[in-house]
Amino acid sequence: MIIQIAKHSGFCYGVKRAIQILDDLIEANKGEKRIFTLGPIIHNNQVTEYYEEKGIKAIEKLANFMDNRMDGDRLVIRSHGAPKSVYDLAEAQGFEIHDATCPYVKKIQNTVSSYYLKGYNIIIVGDQNHPEVLGINGWCDESATIVNTLHDVEDMHPSDELFCIVAQTTFKLSLWEQMSTLFSEKLSNAVIQNTICLATEQRQKACIELSKTVEFMIVIGGKHSSNTRKLAEICSRNATTIHIETKDDLVDVSMFKSNTKIGIAAGASTPDWIVESVILKIENEGEVFFDGKS
Ligand code: SF4
Repeated sequence: MIIQIAKHSGFCYGVKRAIQILDDLIEANKGEKRIFTLGPIIHNNQVTEYYEEKGIKAIEKLANFMDNRMDGDRLVIRSHGAPKSVYDLAEAQGFEIHDATCPYVKKIQNTVSSYYLKGYNIIIVGDQNHPEVLGINGWCDESATIVNTLHDVEDMHPSDELFCIVAQTTFKLSLWEQMSTLFSEKLSNAVIQNTICLATEQRQKACIELSKTVEFMIVIGGKHSSNTRKLAEICSRNATTIHIETKDDLVDVSMFKSNTKIGIAAGASTPDWIVESVILKIENEGEVFFDGKS
């Protein structure tokens, strides 16, 4: 087997930064105060379990937590960000807030907030249930129209009203390009900002390139991770693709023959140690020519 790892695999800048902020806080806290994250710090079950073992709990809904509050509780806002109302509520309840919102997401929130205050209608291109999109929508009083497909844009009526259009940072680039062309045809006064993160673009492009040159792609990352799922979908167009969370999901390694070319890609929230353990498992099952990064 020949294994190649896609360029730009693994933790992105925003995830590394969020993990660092949490680790620094744990270190400085020395177990004195309780530390919570707003939702799992990143979309990766193994990382969440690691922090749970250190006593860090994820709060899903802040409003439901208020009866359990204690003085000095710390709250870490994860890289996806949060709506303005969450900051207001956390502050009012006396949480010490540690904001690990990725600066790229923060920039979108600021853009949306400033255009909304100038009277623009906000459109967010992305998944209406994703925490990042929910967070961005929370900076324009939850007034945004959220669209996710070309069909959604085709259904829109032409308008000369003011619009500001942004994208979820992990949205698929090729679909965004098609959608923005349609937006500019239908909306004569639209500010269209491509806010897809460079990390996402790089990972998607690397996956397209690598998946064209191999027979199998193994995409590693959380089943709930939006960016990992998109990488798997992109790879599946060119190669037989499996999406796994850990080495334990890789049940039948025997399907890889001695001359099989395997590509490996990891989502932006997948730690290196999980990638390494998958490679080790494949190595232990047969002859492998490790070819490094593609
Ligand atoms: S994918 Fe981009 S926007 Fe999202 S956390 Fe990573 S660096 Fe930030």
